[in-house]
Amino acid sequence: MNGVHKQWLTVHNMPVLLHSIRAFTTVPDVSEIIVVLKQQDIPKAERMMQEHPITIPYKLVCGGDTRQESILHGFEQISDQSGFIAIHDGARPLVTAQSIQNVFQDAKTFGCAILGVRVKETMKVVDQTGCIAHTPNRKNLFVAQTPQVFRCDLYQTALHRAIQQGKRYTDDCQLMESMCIPVHLTEGDYSNIKITTPEDLHLVEAASKDACENIISFDRGITVSDDTKQQERKIPDMRIGQGYDVHCLALDRDLILGGVFVPHTTGLLGHSDADVLTHAVMDALLGAAGLGDIGRIFPDNDPKYHGISSLTLLKQVCTLLAAHGYHIENIDATIMAQRPKLAPYLNDMVRNLAMTCSMDADCINVKATTEEGLGFTGAEQGISSCAVALISK
Ligand code: MG
Repeated sequence: MNGVHKQWLTVHNMPVLLHSIRAFTTVPDVSEIIVVLKQQDIPKAERMMQEHPITIPYKLVCGGDTRQESILHGFEQISDQSGFIAIHDGARPLVTAQSIQNVFQDAKTFGCAILGVRVKETMKVVDQTGCIAHTPNRKNLFVAQTPQVFRCDLYQTALHRAIQQGKRYTDDCQLMESMCIPVHLTEGDYSNIKITTPEDLHLVEAASKDACENIISFDRGITVSDDTKQQERKIPDMRIGQGYDVHCLALDRDLILGGVFVPHTTGLLGHSDADVLTHAVMDALLGAAGLGDIGRIFPDNDPKYHGISSLTLLKQVCTLLAAHGYHIENIDATIMAQRPKLAPYLNDMVRNLAMTCSMDADCINVKATTEEGLGFTGAEQGISSCAVALISK
């Protein structure tokens, strides 16, 4: 990301790394924090910790050439009194204190535990030719997150054994798996994302607004629990949003509606694929969640959105809603177009939207209407669309 390591990117005026560190400072089981960094980043981290002091002891440690070596350097600095080690990725700033506490609790019971979330989409295993070999049962599939918590004696044994055998693992659980030590999976939150792309940073910025409010309250000595905030704000369980969009018709453009290519003499003009239906759906979802609109999240002067499929953007909107704890109940949308006849394509539009939003198709409805030759849609100057979405917390 522009040459800046992701943990040093700024979210709400603080480095991502500091958000990640602070998530641990209110967890009773955490007695010390070891931050493993590249040598050249240590002075920067020292300044950060001086400017933003934390309430528990910490050390800044120089890492190694590999992840495993870096963990070893950190592990060697742990005090003898510590019974468990939690390993966390500095680019996961949205982890909650509750999730950290839960995974510690499971590690105390099982010896090792990691955070993870259930896979929501159908997964496919492909063979060497690129064809699907089989479809695993997603009930048994989880996406691994951090922190990963281990009993120190187990972790030390596994780590030294891996070093002796010259094995390198990119995931700490694999150390335990290599010794046939069971690792418990603790269900975490979908909001605990790892920043890997610029789009992730936008999601974190939006999703961390609440987290920042908590940190500010903590600094002032007024710890506000999530439950209390929920009551104070009186956020209803169900929320509704509406979206509306218009695009001009032009020659030499494809007509894309709900991700479906509709053969026609003209197509919609826009920075992205100008999928007016999907744009209206996105605005309905963002409106329901109180998260602004697509213009704010995906600026139309940003070159990275040039020609992009609007379904890709819709996927990001769904991730953002999930990060805020919202579930999409249903979507109803209408396309206003004089021509072409859209009825043959509506089912495909529903299917695309449902797959993108990980929803059942019967929770999405798409209609089309002409406007009897009236207005700009009737004159075939453009196509408009409106949508309504219901979401729940
Ligand atoms: Mg638009």
